[in-house]
Amino acid sequence: MHLVPTKDELLDLLRSTGGLRTGHFVYPKGLHSANYFQVALTMRHFEAAKILSVALSRLLRAHSDIRAIIPELSIVAPANGGLPVAYGVAEALRARQVYWAERENDDEPLRFRQFLEVEPGEKVLLVDDIVRSGRRLTELKKLVEESGGEVAGVAVVVYDPLPTAKSFDPLPFYHLLEMRSTYYPDAASCELCRKDVPATKVWV
Ligand SMILES: [Zn+2]
Repeated sequence: MHLVPTKDELLDLLRSTGGLRTGHFVYPKGLHSANYFQVALTMRHFEAAKILSVALSRLLRAHSDIRAIIPELSIVAPANGGLPVAYGVAEALRARQVYWAERENDDEPLRFRQFLEVEPGEKVLLVDDIVRSGRRLTELKKLVEESGGEVAGVAVVVYDPLPTAKSFDPLPFYHLLEMRSTYYPDAASCELCRKDVPATKVWV
């Protein structure tokens, strides 16, 4: 395994730990796909978590605009799925701190823990395990900015965008693995449905 693993090494690591499945999956909003990532399953294992975090941190350190601000950088996750990645990256970079957003209920906005205050001009790197729609990271960016912070970039392990995925432009966007999965909008247009491949409903 290379320090920054190749695409094949990453795919092998994710597959062998349950973080990437192939078959026939139906997403909550009705999309169908032959691939499904659940990076949290890979992050269960500290060796795998270390490999991914160190690789992502090396990728980040290679960019001079990030390298210059590491000592003052806050690593912020939009949900608990991003936490192991956020802590791994923060440790490997020796960044300043880690925190995360959460929400009470699905219909409520993201917020930080009580008494957590973003400093004016605080440099923040948004970190998560995967980008699919980008919705949550976009909401987190807004929360950080409204709280007075300055978002320096977005970093994720897997970039597997839905057809409707939001772009983070003009923010720098760093990812270890890019997948361009085919998403079918519904059962009628799905090749896998047509071939009667058994389907599994996924939660997120
Ligand atoms: Zn289907």
